[in-house]
Amino acid sequence: MDTTIANARDDLFRRIAAKRDEVASLTRDLIRIPTVNPPGDAYAACADFIGERLRRRGFEVKFLRGEGTPGDSDAYPRTNIVARIEGRPGGECVHFNSHIDVVEAGQGWTVDPFGGEIRDGRVWGRGACDMKGGLAASIVAVEAILESGIPWTGALEISGTVDEESGGFGGVAHLARQGLFSPPRVHHVIIPEPLDPDRVCLGHRGVWWAEIETKGRIAHGSMPFLGVSAIRHMGEFLHLVEERVYPELAKRRTRMPVVPDGARASTLNFNSLHGGQAEIAGDGLPSPNVADSCRLILDRRFLIEEGLDAVKAEILGLLEELAAGRPDFRYAVRDLMVVHPVMTDPGAPVVRALDREIERVFGRTPKHIASPGTYDQKHIARIGNLHDCVAYGPGILELAHQPDEWVGIDDMVASAKVMAAAALTLTGTWPDGGARF
Ligand SMILES: [Zn+2]
Repeated sequence: MDTTIANARDDLFRRIAAKRDEVASLTRDLIRIPTVNPPGDAYAACADFIGERLRRRGFEVKFLRGEGTPGDSDAYPRTNIVARIEGRPGGECVHFNSHIDVVEAGQGWTVDPFGGEIRDGRVWGRGACDMKGGLAASIVAVEAILESGIPWTGALEISGTVDEESGGFGGVAHLARQGLFSPPRVHHVIIPEPLDPDRVCLGHRGVWWAEIETKGRIAHGSMPFLGVSAIRHMGEFLHLVEERVYPELAKRRTRMPVVPDGARASTLNFNSLHGGQAEIAGDGLPSPNVADSCRLILDRRFLIEEGLDAVKAEILGLLEELAAGRPDFRYAVRDLMVVHPVMTDPGAPVVRALDREIERVFGRTPKHIASPGTYDQKHIARIGNLHDCVAYGPGILELAHQPDEWVGIDDMVASAKVMAAAALTLTGTWPDGGARF
């Protein structure tokens, strides 16, 4: 056992424990900047707030706008902040990436969604768990390293990026295209999304969003035999999906440790369905027409074992079958979004480093999970081509996007300890394997 490292870790953990109030107040301050997306409010104000704080602590701070990315405008600039500090030469770079955008508050709150109230050991508000609490924990973790006087090597980075909730195109994808998530600049990425502080999230399933339109021919509603109903066409398609696709999807199970268990199967949701004219015309009555168009938005979450081509072929095959067998059946399919599944190797350095520190801090075996939905890891893997990346952070996933969202202060402190100690291993400051208590 290396007692120097064990003592340094003890000291680091004590420092972080002493920052309990600070991590809570930092989370509160971040919640009070209402970075609601859409439309992408107050991004620059939030990036400034983070950048100013880190600049004062010696970081080199850059503001990078996702110019020309979806939603970017002078009224709603997609402002990202990336801060970097260098230690002794020779080590690697650990990057903590948090998205600064939050979804709208919605109804049903009993606290001010943008007040950041601190009560009962929790910080309350929109974005508390998803993911300003994680951002605050990572900032406090890195600041504790700097204050500890530990002679650390490599580099530490913290970013606050935009638009994760709407696909991350102006945020992580934009930065990854500029090499900000690739070696030699960055070697390990931790995304502090709310996944419980004793679990490491290795990746996520894939996504295929598509619009399917069935086409008909308009006619008077009193003589439907003169037209072709796009709604009846869609009904037949839905019937086939119900009969053939759903039973198949339920049978497929991934080897990825997706939680909750239901999401280990392949899933399909219909987000919306619109057929025919608007329900109520100007005179308050429905328009008596045969529907010439019916549009369905589908949200297919697929498994790493399936592959996008097979996923699409399964749906397109049904449509082709209908086109061959059903009179006047015409259709169109339009891709809205494709995200391929990603999964980091459970033996990857970032996973091992986090596992060891979770075990130390919580005294129990860490769990490996995968997310049912997607997050910015996809861009780091696909565009940045960096695969030593996971999500790890405080907060309870189920509270994300809900009214009365909160994050536990103890969880933030515990995860900050894990992040700080894991970062010192990953930078090469502490030997891989580290000292055991
Ligand atoms: Zn999130």
